[in-house]
Amino acid sequence: MAAQIDLHCHSTISDGLLAPQDLVAHAAKSGIKVLALTDHDDITGLAIARDAANQHGIHFVNGVEISVTWKRRTLHIVGLKFDAENDALKSALANVRIGRDERAKQMAEGLAKAGIAGAYEGAKEISKQSIMTRSHFAQFLVKNGHAKDVKTVFKKFLVKGKPGFVEHQWMSLESAVSLITNAGGQAVIAHPGRYDLGTINMLLLMHEFRSYGGAAIEVVTGSHNPPQYQQFAKIAHRFSLKASLGSDYHGPGLSYMAMGCMPDLPVGCDPVWADWSEAQYLNVK
Ligand code: AMP
Ligand code: MN
Ligand code: MN
Ligand code: MN
Repeated sequence: MAAQIDLHCHSTISDGLLAPQDLVAHAAKSGIKVLALTDHDDITGLAIARDAANQHGIHFVNGVEISVTWKRRTLHIVGLKFDAENDALKSALANVRIGRDERAKQMAEGLAKAGIAGAYEGAKEISKQSIMTRSHFAQFLVKNGHAKDVKTVFKKFLVKGKPGFVEHQWMSLESAVSLITNAGGQAVIAHPGRYDLGTINMLLLMHEFRSYGGAAIEVVTGSHNPPQYQQFAKIAHRFSLKASLGSDYHGPGLSYMAMGCMPDLPVGCDPVWADWSEAQYLNVK
């Protein structure tokens, strides 16, 4: 049976295609009973999502996915169950969003040099009021015929060494973990299998993350294949970290994985939700 919990997904507040209330409706229809909304660097969708979850009779958990720079690489740290009114968290995320806008302007400059004009305005039109992400640039570039789909456009324009890529300095790992933890939440390393770290750095990351008070890693995610579920279940166990589970759903056509289709955590994992009241229903097996 598919897992009934999903602790990683995106709405139009960041680079998802569904508005928070529509995303929650979609989750409910897909059989999800416990949901966290984890928009990139923004928590303004949580209140609407929580109301919608109440209406649909599903349990809602506050979430966010914070962009971090660690050893010159970008990592994503998911925060769960924090107080969304925490001032330090709110103002740190506001700063990240200012940085995102500056980065988007630099990305557009790079694309302009490669002969693609108007990318900032074009991506902004797609992102509407939300933060500017590479996903929005990807959609703009596909719409204007620069590649056949989002996947191809990333490879051609938006990754290291390509015209639309900007090396950006995000928050430190320690800051992200501390902000989440000090706001009463749990910090989770998102999709660890996606980082090209090598064994030594992967273990170093786990060790460092744990030392800052990190709680869990994603074991089952839309970005991992089944052998990686096993691999990261073992790593979690080795570092006494809990395990999380999320689809990383971004909406129809943009997601890595549909909602309501994720397998349960491998046997032996310690779920990050083990002592959550929201997930009691799931803990009774
Ligand atoms: P940003 O945080 O602005 O760098 O944007 C990162 C987002 O772009 C990720 O959260 C994904 O939603 C999306 N993304 C990154 N790489 C790819 C890819 N290769 N194909 C499709 N989407 C991607
Ligand atoms: Mn995204
Ligand atoms: Mn991510
Ligand atoms: Mn994500």
